[in-house]
Amino acid sequence: MNCPTCNRKNRKTATQCRHCGALMPRRSARLLDSMTMNPAMALSIGIALLCFSTLLFFNGLFWFAVLPTLCGLAFTALGLKMRD
Ligand SMILES: [Zn+2]
Repeated sequence: MNCPTCNRKNRKTATQCRHCGALMPRRSARLLDSMTMNPAMALSIGIALLCFSTLLFFNGLFWFAVLPTLCGLAFTALGLKMRD
């Protein structure tokens, strides 16, 4: 992967750039970024969660539907906000 500071090549596992010494983003941070920084992905996760919670709700599992509803709304809002 390339260094975010000097944009030169480094090993995938490098924690620090061997050219300029800048710290490389951690793998987990990059994974989180790819999940949360992608509006289409966030939107589809949100909508999927909302559908799932609707399903739970109509099956009488109101309290089990609360958590996916909140998460779904958060993801949908995030996705909509990032699209602007
Ligand atoms: Zn660098």
